[in-house]
Amino acid sequence: MNKPLIDIRNLSKHFDRGRHKIRAVDDVSLSIEAGEIVGLVGESGSGKSTLGRTLLGLDRKTAGEIFYKGSKLPTVYRAKDFHRYARSMQMIFQDPYSSLNPRMTAGEIIGEALRLHSDLNKSDIAKRIEEWLVKVGLNIDHLGRYPHEFSGGQRQRIGIARALILEPDFVVCDEPISALDVSVQAQIVDLLGELKRSLGLTLLFIAHDLSMVRYVSDRMAVMYLGSLVEIGRSDHVFFDPKHPYTELLIGSNPEPDPNQERSRQKVQSIGEIPSQLDIPAGCRFANRCPHAMAVCHDVNPVLRIVSHEDDERLVACHLYE
Ligand code: SF4
Repeated sequence: MNKPLIDIRNLSKHFDRGRHKIRAVDDVSLSIEAGEIVGLVGESGSGKSTLGRTLLGLDRKTAGEIFYKGSKLPTVYRAKDFHRYARSMQMIFQDPYSSLNPRMTAGEIIGEALRLHSDLNKSDIAKRIEEWLVKVGLNIDHLGRYPHEFSGGQRQRIGIARALILEPDFVVCDEPISALDVSVQAQIVDLLGELKRSLGLTLLFIAHDLSMVRYVSDRMAVMYLGSLVEIGRSDHVFFDPKHPYTELLIGSNPEPDPNQERSRQKVQSIGEIPSQLDIPAGCRFANRCPHAMAVCHDVNPVLRIVSHEDDERLVACHLYE
């Protein structure tokens, strides 16, 4: 087996809140192969975005290790580390409006990374900016416009060009479509899919919308209260979820199932999501799980392989032990 492009081992990110600790990401391990799109799904507050930010050094990890092409990434990123890894790893943000500087034109925003992190001269930078405008479906007339003069979808296209102009190997897409109208979401997902194919990108695609994640990703990782509870091939996880939380998430997904390939039995969850300040000792999902057993309240289940064939499915649940 090839070395993964990204290998996350036992990664944790905790935040101190007074006397309390928020375990936003807790002992997460996940590897991503070169050229693969992994969708990361879960409810708000599950730690998805924190995992993405910690992966790129935007948040400082509390524990664990991250390897990029086999080399360990720093615990604390200094300016030289950001410079060094900018060409390798980038992020596309959720809200294109707040992540774009309102005083810079589209051309300046897209070209900024090249000015900071490449040796190209002015005219080569200008050429590359024009190429990328076209690649993301904008045109040369858009160069001198400011973010407020664009629609939400166009602003996300600018955000994508800004992140990809350095041609990084790995991109974290942090809910890149959730701030957009439904009609525009599919266009942006298609654009990312096209760019992935033409550039050989590797993506961690963070989203709420499971049907969109299934469409765009090769594998899906399901996160609940800072932990991964299921990982597998996207279609398999979507049509045959194993973990009760995945069933709940998919049951609450509004997408109709035109092929009737999966019986959409809605899983009734009971109880509220526990506070991140007070994570249960056993399975984190136990207070909401219709299948909870005595052991679930005491012992935290770990991810185990539950099916092979052409799908190495990992599930953290005592039902599969
Ligand atoms: Fe439900 Fe127990 Fe599985 Fe947790 S470990 S998801 S409580 S059955």
